[in-house]
Amino acid sequence: MNPVTPARTVRPGELWVFDFDGTLSPLVADRDTAVLHPACRDLLDDLAQKRGLAVAVLSSRSIDDLVPRVPLSRVLLGGGSGLEWRFPGGHRVLPGDRAEARRDETRRSLQAILARIRRFPGMEVEDKLWSLAVHYRQVLPDAAPMVAPLLDELRNTPGIRVFDGPCTAEVQLLPSVNKSFGVRRLCRLLRFDPATGRIAYAGDDESDAVAMRWVLGKGGAAFTVGGRIRVRGARAVAGPGDLARAVREYAGLPPRGSSAQGEVEA
Ligand SMILES: [Mg+2]
Repeated sequence: MNPVTPARTVRPGELWVFDFDGTLSPLVADRDTAVLHPACRDLLDDLAQKRGLAVAVLSSRSIDDLVPRVPLSRVLLGGGSGLEWRFPGGHRVLPGDRAEARRDETRRSLQAILARIRRFPGMEVEDKLWSLAVHYRQVLPDAAPMVAPLLDELRNTPGIRVFDGPCTAEVQLLPSVNKSFGVRRLCRLLRFDPATGRIAYAGDDESDAVAMRWVLGKGGAAFTVGGRIRVRGARAVAGPGDLARAVREYAGLPPRGSSAQGEVEA
């Protein structure tokens, strides 16, 4: 991978990183319908206008999926858990041919087990380009005992890493890639030093927890959303609306209309 920093990117003194699904956007059964919570949209917009502060959304979605969901030109967008970045102004940093070749080779090695999973009633495989999400929420209770052996077989395939989410197994096609990798890569791209700058991260599942622990280890702040994970030292909030209010308070931003309302997405 060969990161190239856009020439006009100003080195920030403060960095805010947010996961998207379940953090800035209420969780929905159909991921295609996930949208930015209005209070979070206002929050990102206001943070992005602060001098010396960079704000990023880091998702396991592909960058092409993420871009239309966060229509804020000043916000940095990271797809594939930070393999792909879009900078303000539209400049993109991609991981390169070697990473793509490794990804495609791993995907081929999973073909047989994925075909069996796809045939299993109620299981679904979502291809997110750099990762796969295996969903099993729709499996009927009678068939549920057969899910674990299938997932174990998937988990034991060499060359991948699996994170567990709510009724989902998230399969990283490049095993060294996770949200912590994504945050560290962003710091390098921005020439941001978390030892001297202020850094904060907000997320809602196990893949975010690794990034939160890294950020907290650097003396930063972390917010967990929705009660699905516990991270020592992180502040817990109930949902995206509460996150917007808590971050505004922490970052010293005055309330806006959409963040002054009660939590509606619980
Ligand atoms: Mg999430």
